Amino acid sequence: MPKERKYILLQEKARQGNLPYRLPNIKNKRLLDPLVVIVGAGASVAACKVDKYGKQVPLLKNIHTVLGLTDDLKEYGFSEEQMADFEILFSDISGKNEYKDLQAKLENVISDFFCELTIPDEPTYYDYLVLSLTHKDAIISFNWDPFLIQAYRRNTCVGNLPELIFPHGNAGVGVCYDCKVKGYANCLCPRCFKKLEKMPLLYPIGKKDYYSKPIIRNEWSRARDVLSRAAGITVYGYGAPVTDVEAVELMKTANMVSQMKDIAPFTIINLPKNEIEQRKKWAEFYDVKMISYCNRFEDTMLWQNPRVSLETLFDAILQQHPRSSEKPFEKFASLKELQDFVDTITEFDMYFYGS
Ligand SMILES: [Zn+2]
Repeated sequence: MPKERKYILLQEKARQGNLPYRLPNIKNKRLLDPLVVIVGAGASVAACKVDKYGKQVPLLKNIHTVLGLTDDLKEYGFSEEQMADFEILFSDISGKNEYKDLQAKLENVISDFFCELTIPDEPTYYDYLVLSLTHKDAIISFNWDPFLIQAYRRNTCVGNLPELIFPHGNAGVGVCYDCKVKGYANCLCPRCFKKLEKMPLLYPIGKKDYYSKPIIRNEWSRARDVLSRAAGITVYGYGAPVTDVEAVELMKTANMVSQMKDIAPFTIINLPKNEIEQRKKWAEFYDVKMISYCNRFEDTMLWQNPRVSLETLFDAILQQHPRSSEKPFEKFASLKELQDFVDTITEFDMYFYGS
């Protein structure tokens, strides 16, 4: 049965409450189910408050202020009140003929700005995040900045890294449409050696057009696949804004289909001031008992048990056999020290009592 069709059938069964809950998939003592981390703007701010050259990473809400675009907006008669939230403002002007030039200007300035951002030399939270997961896992980023993929690139020497998925496009990704290859921005296609094209950025509008661009459609399909198999979800600095209806809907249905909501941990990393709102938002479709709220990446199981965090958790709750030694991350001064530490984590196997 084609994947799409199977997913729709499962979704229907889940809606009717006919899906049994399942235990994690384990083969040859290895956990197969992914841990999925969803990152939003808050994660990029935590990872790189300023880039290597001192540039500040704006939140989408105030991006027009940081990039000096308020004068252009004023020329079109927008008031301070209308300019309070870029996402809502952009939704309002998008696709309207009278704002065509303005929209093009905003898109160009924003795209150029993000393309030039460079991750600082010292280890960032994105390096720790990439290195806290393994090949079966995935990071879904709704951010345009290239820090996550730059962190991935400089840690490929360690190996066994998670998949990166960008449903809103990303300035650090390049695409070859002929070869259907996704790579790093400004690099050559490894197959046909043509320069990779910029991955499009998906702008915040109420009803996003996910299907007109094949690369974006592919990213949504990848996101749905990993989420529907996830045995654990972490939401890092992602507020699930009102303009992201589709993203929230995707997480909601994928969670039902995964059949693991009674056992899969759901971790939110966000600021203390957002706790009540965030708990309420996610409790609508994740089990309240499984939600934990942290303010820092250091407080998560990813930091406590990098590379084997779900394995460690399931050992404790399913096998009643907690691992004897834990190897939490430390703050390392250099990337090399962090990578050398990760190389010492070799217990990828899910431990089985009596084996
Ligand atoms: Zn190519």
